[in-house]
Amino acid sequence: MAENYDAIVVGAGIAGLGVAGLLQRGGMSTLCVEKDPRPGGRMQGYDLEGGWRLDIGLHMAELGDASSADELVRSVGKQVEWAAFSDTVEIYREGRWQSLQEMIIASPQDIEEIKRMMKLIARMDDPTLESTDLASWGDWLAANTDSTVTKELFEVNGMIMTTVPEPFEMSAGEILYIARDNLLKKHNFLTAAYPVGGMLGIINPLVEAFEEAGGTLKLGTEVDSVLFEGGRADGVALKKKSPSPYTGWFYMDDLAEVRAPVVVCAMPLWSLDEVLDMNPETAVLPEWWIKRYEDLKYETTGLIGYTVALSEPVYDKPNFLSALKLDHTGMPFQAFVPSAFDPGVAPEGKSLLQTDCVVEVDQIFDKFELERLLASMWTDIAEMFPGIDEKVEWKFVYKCIGCDGLARKPGQVGAFKPDVVAPGVDGLYFAGDTYRGRGLALNSAALSGKTCAGKILEKHGK
Ligand SMILES: Cc1cc2nc3c(=O)[nH]c(=O)nc-3n(C[C@H](O)[C@H](O)[C@H](O)COP(=O)(O)OP(=O)(O)OC[C@H]3O[C@@H](n4cnc5c(N)ncnc54)[C@H](O)[C@@H]3O)c2cc1C
Repeated sequence: MAENYDAIVVGAGIAGLGVAGLLQRGGMSTLCVEKDPRPGGRMQGYDLEGGWRLDIGLHMAELGDASSADELVRSVGKQVEWAAFSDTVEIYREGRWQSLQEMIIASPQDIEEIKRMMKLIARMDDPTLESTDLASWGDWLAANTDSTVTKELFEVNGMIMTTVPEPFEMSAGEILYIARDNLLKKHNFLTAAYPVGGMLGIINPLVEAFEEAGGTLKLGTEVDSVLFEGGRADGVALKKKSPSPYTGWFYMDDLAEVRAPVVVCAMPLWSLDEVLDMNPETAVLPEWWIKRYEDLKYETTGLIGYTVALSEPVYDKPNFLSALKLDHTGMPFQAFVPSAFDPGVAPEGKSLLQTDCVVEVDQIFDKFELERLLASMWTDIAEMFPGIDEKVEWKFVYKCIGCDGLARKPGQVGAFKPDVVAPGVDGLYFAGDTYRGRGLALNSAALSGKTCAGKILEKHGK
């Protein structure tokens, strides 16, 4: 490893890999350091024995070939191959799956109202949209429609977009942004796409582009801290193997320093205090910024779910599935069948089902509550997909805190998210889904990565 670079990117998720690729292609020699042995962050993929390809839990990309993720991959000279596009969202209500179209047709009096609302959103200009960043989706809907079916439809879509369970807790601005983007680009309120090969279909081209351009990707290496000199970014200290026999609490890492005048923390906001001093007395970052960071770092959302391998499908259409509140669990539900989009992710004739329930983070920390929720979630799943128990080859549960970056609640989206440029500290930048960027989770990470690289190249580029 060279001692000096033009830029160091901490983290090889979609945002970090995107920034690293763009900087390297822009002529800056770049090191990307990832603590995990594999790239991808929350978009890692796993190949299991027998021919199964898994993402971490349920993962889809809104907008597909018109997404910020696709644009990021194209901007480093590569392409994402997209599988079949989702035909519709199906919602589980009154004991069965109903497509959005079916719901709308079943209540003809609402068709005109839904069309009116969609037009209103599609025609919204940026200032009007941004003025709703502080408003809740529940309040916005109450102020803009009296139709119960319209509200229900828009609430379910809001939950899918934000992974926030309650409409009165969702930011209207973020939902309106995502809906407007989808309406303008795909003539639909919300679209879901799946890359061939799962999320690695986005991550692998980013890795290839970075390495082909001559960038250095260092996996399995953790950054201990960002280094500063005279209040400017000056590189990072990496953890290295120590001769110390001490373990656990007694162990202190040995460090190796690598220098660069630009450091990008492409890691979630809640991990920043692992690499940056957040003591206002001694930190390089201003006190107001640290206060904001303290406010936001616990503002995230949680998911629990089942990944299920089935001997044959219990549902075989390339659709996104959802329910606003499950009968037994009482939580919002999402699911889809990756193998219905890309048959290559399951052995021939078999089926992969990804499911999740949106929960409050506290419920994940409470082990006993978590067990109760998972048990009732399976009862709900068995009712929604009759006969599933006989077809299960294997299944496992997963839990996730911080699935979609900052919870998209009022006052935590758009310009209220921390900027990608660190204030008052030359050379320090941020990228990822917890920093400024719009769109559904991975797209917001991709957009922030592209914005971040643009700002760096403008200021430090050669
Ligand atoms: C279960 C689950 C389901 C999801 N479903 C969807 C979905 O359907 N649609 C959607 O749009 N989004 C979804 N998301 C969210 C999406 O995965 C994220 O928004 C996106 O991956 C975030 O990318 P990122 O680059 O910002 O951060 P990350 O992917 O978190 O990347 C940060 C990287 O930094 C590394 N790192 C941290 N600290 C250090 C250190 N000190 N040294 C070195 N490396 C470090 C981490 O290991 C990580 O690899 C889901 C996420 C999860 C977990």
